[in-house]
Amino acid sequence: MRLATFSEGGRTRIGVVVGDEVVDLSAAAPSLPDDMTAFLTEGDAAMQAARDAVDAGGNRIRLASVTLEAAVPRPPKFLAVGLNYADHIAETGRKAPDFPTIFNKQVSCTNGPYAEVQLPRASNALDYEGELAFVIGKPGRHVPKERAHEIIAGYCIVNDVSVRDWQGRAPTMTLGKSWDTHGPVGPWIVTADEVDDPHALSIKTTVNGELRQDSNTKHLMLNCYEAVALLSTVFTLQPGDIVATGTPSGVAIGFDPPKFLVAGDVVRIEIDGIGHLENTIVAEPEATARVG
Ligand code: ZN
Repeated sequence: MRLATFSEGGRTRIGVVVGDEVVDLSAAAPSLPDDMTAFLTEGDAAMQAARDAVDAGGNRIRLASVTLEAAVPRPPKFLAVGLNYADHIAETGRKAPDFPTIFNKQVSCTNGPYAEVQLPRASNALDYEGELAFVIGKPGRHVPKERAHEIIAGYCIVNDVSVRDWQGRAPTMTLGKSWDTHGPVGPWIVTADEVDDPHALSIKTTVNGELRQDSNTKHLMLNCYEAVALLSTVFTLQPGDIVATGTPSGVAIGFDPPKFLVAGDVVRIEIDGIGHLENTIVAEPEATARVG
């Protein structure tokens, strides 16, 4: 299934994308939660109820008439693996880390798959990072990599939008990776049963149609299952948690001179069998200033 969060008629809820339609689960299975994290928390029974609703055939809305939102709008955790493709490490001029680099994007930066991404007023060093992400479907602690697939609900795409000058000012990623709008997630979650091998997917990023990133998830150094084992050694992974797995080479800062994003640029990230994100860069509006 392709599990999506969408808005239509002023209401946000979840559904299952089938072809060019979405099965509105709030109508087709009204006993289910209408929020993705709550839905995933209900586990296998909710997943089966969604499948039954699709099979029943009704309550479909044209995909073109809804707005797809971040697949998980309020993830409990939004984690990312840094420096996880050898070619990307080479372009950053760093050494391969002895231990995986894990960081958080703040959950407040999640954004829709086709929504606008803001070029900060405080920076001109805006960059993209096309990434495969997995979404947790069952709680897990101390999960060995051999059983990691049991707690992964499915896969989606993340643009790990990065503000390079702010990222470089301090040893942590906190201020470089979490600006408002800098976490497009989607376009939906493809459930794990429909992804034969998450470590054999082509991943491509274009900017205004120019191919910038062209790789395959087979090159991941820490793969999805190993990431589950590592992370769950430390804390409980929870339904709705998102883990972005890192980006291959071809980011803007890897070019000389860097090809940082400017307002009007269109960033498209496509992963085999999952779909694509397409986000337009806009200048951060003055209206983002607010107190209270
Ligand atoms: Zn990244």
